Formats: sequence, structure tokens, C-alpha cells
Amino acid sequence: MSAVTPGLVCAHHHLYSELARGMPPPPKVATNFQEILEQVWWRLDVALDLEMIRWSAMLGAVEALESGTTAIVDHHESPNAIEGSLDVIAEACAEVGVRVLTAYGITDRHGPDGAKRGLEENERFIKAGGPGYVGIHAAFTCSDKSLREAAGLAHDLGVGVHIHVAEGIGDVEAPTRLAGLTADNWLLSHCVHLPDDHGLSGIILHNPRSNLNNGVGYANPARFTNPVALGTDGIGANMIESFRLAYVMQRSVDVTAGPDPAWSWLENGWNIMPEARGDEVTWSYEPMDPWHIAFTPSIRPLEVKVNDEVVFKDGKTTRVDAAEVRAKAREQASRLHARL
Ligand SMILES: [Zn+2]
Repeated sequence: MSAVTPGLVCAHHHLYSELARGMPPPPKVATNFQEILEQVWWRLDVALDLEMIRWSAMLGAVEALESGTTAIVDHHESPNAIEGSLDVIAEACAEVGVRVLTAYGITDRHGPDGAKRGLEENERFIKAGGPGYVGIHAAFTCSDKSLREAAGLAHDLGVGVHIHVAEGIGDVEAPTRLAGLTADNWLLSHCVHLPDDHGLSGIILHNPRSNLNNGVGYANPARFTNPVALGTDGIGANMIESFRLAYVMQRSVDVTAGPDPAWSWLENGWNIMPEARGDEVTWSYEPMDPWHIAFTPSIRPLEVKVNDEVVFKDGKTTRVDAAEVRAKAREQASRLHARL
């Protein structure tokens, strides 16, 4: 193996969460995953407007290229700025030169009208040719009606559904709620508390850093017969890091495991975004072999090509000024944090 690989794929990201870093602490310390959702993410997402979403996505796309990631599968939520939000994300990624498949995560947390508007945003975006999935936040925040409608819309549009499944114990009913709705082109994120014989179809998205950070437990994705792909769940798009964490987490329960399963999960991202296979990343290390990468912490991309165009070279993105993007993102983060 040489120092060149195809562009890496982050199979589960939340580009809207890039501005969360440095946000003011929640009013009280969250003691479990449900409280983390309520006190951090569900306070943050309602405060987002389109300008914040734009610079959050720009920053996320820049950081993706800085990590050798050329393709992002995004899952978006902004209950007070739904209409047009998926275009803003798609345009931001295109400007930086990163591929994206986005989705609006519908939920009934803000009443049936919120779910309906979310569904309409998915439909509008995909019908206009936007690259994406129909998004569902999770079964535990949606009515049966919303789950059925989202599955039906995805089927009609010929795309899959991107959904969080059994990330925490509050969503253990997911396999029952989603029974009969899923298909092979669905993306099922986390699946920490999903039984081995869950009966759901789709690719399971494993997010090792996020699961550790939220204390939800180890998904042990090797136990599933479904294909598995790797994501970050919004904490950057460094897939080399995600691979390393997936590997050591598997080692923590099975010390006989080598890095090949975790590497195959990373490679499965190319089944979701095949175009990234044609992208080219030249790395600072050779050979880019799973056994080497697992134990070499300082690997970084030297050059990234997307569609034969150099979009990152000598530590810099070529289409946009990364320093300017960071400055704009900081301004928007200040606005966002002031709202919190
Ligand atoms: Zn997620």
C-alpha cells in the first residue's frame, strides 16, 4: 500500500453541531444521555438560524478536508429554521469542495406541525435534485404516523432513511416501532441498545467517540449481520481517528480482534458514497495499512483531490480561506452562545 487512499467518508455527521464547542455549560450537569439531549443538543438546535447553519457547515467541511475526508453523510435539525436549511448545508459543502448527503431529522418534539415541516423540507430538497436521505431524529421522539410517513416518502422518492436507533436506553422500543418499515438503503445510527436479532434492514453507523462521550455503552457492531460504517456523530470528520477508536473499543471486549474489521467499517463508507472512491488523498505516512494506521497517531493528509481538483494542499484548503471561515464561524458561535 502506498501513501495514497481514496477520499474517506464520514457516514454520520451533524454539521450543525460545529458551533457547539465552547458553548456555555447547561444550567445543571447532565447525568445521563436523555439529559444531555435535553440540556445541550435540544437547546442548541432550537437556537439555530440559517446564517449559523451556513458557517457551521462551512467549518465542518473545511475540517473534513483537513482530515482527508471528502464525503459527509449529514443529519440535520434546526426546528426554528427548517425551510431551506438543507440547501444551505449542501451549498456550504459544495463551496469548500466536499461531497454531502444531507437529511432533515423529523421529530414530533415540537408538535405534529414541526414533523410535517421537516418532512416537507426533505421532500422539497430531494425533489429539487438535492443529494440526501429522508431524515428521522429517532423513533422515541416520533409518532407512529410520522415514522410511517417518513418511510413512505423515502420509498416514493427512491432514497433511504437516515435515523438514530437505540442510541440510549430511552429508545429500546425502536426495533418494534420500526418493524416492517426499514429497507437495505436505510442508515441506522448508533444501535448501542439494539438486540442482535433486531430484524431491521440497513447499514449500521458506528460512532465510537460520541458513544464514549455520552456514556451510552459499546455498540459492539461486530455482532450484527447488517453492514457497518463509521461516523463521528458531529465531533469533526476525522475518520482515521474514528477508525482507531473503533479498533481499540473492539479490543476492549475482544483482545483477539485485529484492525481489519474496523478498517472494513471505514471502507463501507464507499458503499454509501461511491463517488469518494475516485477522490485521492496523499498522506504524510506510508504505508496506509490498517496495522500501521492503528498505531501511528500523527498521520495527516498532504493533498486532497476531489473530482480531480486539488481542494487541499500544504495544510490549506484551496477554494476557501480556512482562517476566514474560522473567523466567521467564531462570530456565529458567539451569536449562538448568546442565545443560550
Ligand atoms: Zn447523530
